[in-house]
Amino acid sequence: AAADATGVQQYDPAHDTNAAHRLELLGDLRRAIGADDQIILHYQPKIDLVTGRPAGVEALVRWNHPVKGRMAPDTFIPMAESTSLIRPLTDHVLQIAARQARQWQQGGTPIPVAVNLSTRCLLDPHFADHVFDLLQRTGLPVELLELEVTESMVMADPDRALAVLRALHDGGIRLSVDDFGTGHSSMTYLQRLPVQELKIDRSFVQQMTDVDGDAVLVRTAITLGHNLGLSVVAEGIEDEETAAALRELGCDIAQGYHFARPMPADEFDRWLAGTAV
Ligand code: C2E
Ligand code: CA
Ligand code: CA
Ligand code: CA
Repeated sequence: AAADATGVQQYDPAHDTNAAHRLELLGDLRRAIGADDQIILHYQPKIDLVTGRPAGVEALVRWNHPVKGRMAPDTFIPMAESTSLIRPLTDHVLQIAARQARQWQQGGTPIPVAVNLSTRCLLDPHFADHVFDLLQRTGLPVELLELEVTESMVMADPDRALAVLRALHDGGIRLSVDDFGTGHSSMTYLQRLPVQELKIDRSFVQQMTDVDGDAVLVRTAITLGHNLGLSVVAEGIEDEETAAALRELGCDIAQGYHFARPMPADEFDRWLAGTAV
């Protein structure tokens, strides 16, 4: 256990080799999904680099464990992904995000919400139907939900994944390729994916102003994305220098602490009200 900047106790199961502890934590997570106050979402805006206006918002999950305290997704998502628990967790996150987006829409500030998927979603031939059912129950228009996938999720079983992505796409859901540049990016697959957005991984963005090679990678990714007709997002922007460099390169959308950190919904409401003027 370690304390983060806010002094909140953090537990890291990645460094806990005790199998019994992991089993216990999985049980805790299963109960957390059934409870209504432990799994919460923070929202980080995606900023249009030309207008400076929010173009959307990404939902990022957090777990307030009753004993261990606040847990970051990197500590429990991989654990959930190694079991079938990732599906109920993803469904829970989708539901919270869709309800929240519906509230924003009804409040007069419609903003598309992006949710991160996992490999198992793309292996489930019924996943698209499940998402459309959820949208119908929530009353959220399809254009206000966006789904983020990575190339490695697709590569796990390309044929099945492509079928799920096409069904989502045909139903009008906007899809985004997350963490672009990491892993084995295949140009052939990128071209075949029915996506509208490409997100350049923050590891490239963060070094672009001091390492020559990374500026080249970012420029190449922007050109590639634009040649495929995609909107290009850069994530992990922490300073104005990087934002200016990305604007110069023609990057469309930006995300990062420089603009706004992920925030609870009520804080995001105040942030949104502040940018509206
Ligand atoms: P991601 O999808 O690549 O999300 C971006 C991560 O970068 C988030 O970390 C965000 O808080 C962080 N970030 C944003 N701006 C900056 C910045 O300027 N500097 C730095 N250093 N970091 C920044 P977070 O919230 O801890 O999420 C980590 C990862 O966990 C996500 O990476 C995503 O892969 C996964 N994740 C988060 N929520 C969910 C979820 O609901 N479902 C699934 N399956 N995965 C999720
Ligand atoms: Ca993401
Ligand atoms: Ca990412
Ligand atoms: Ca990621």
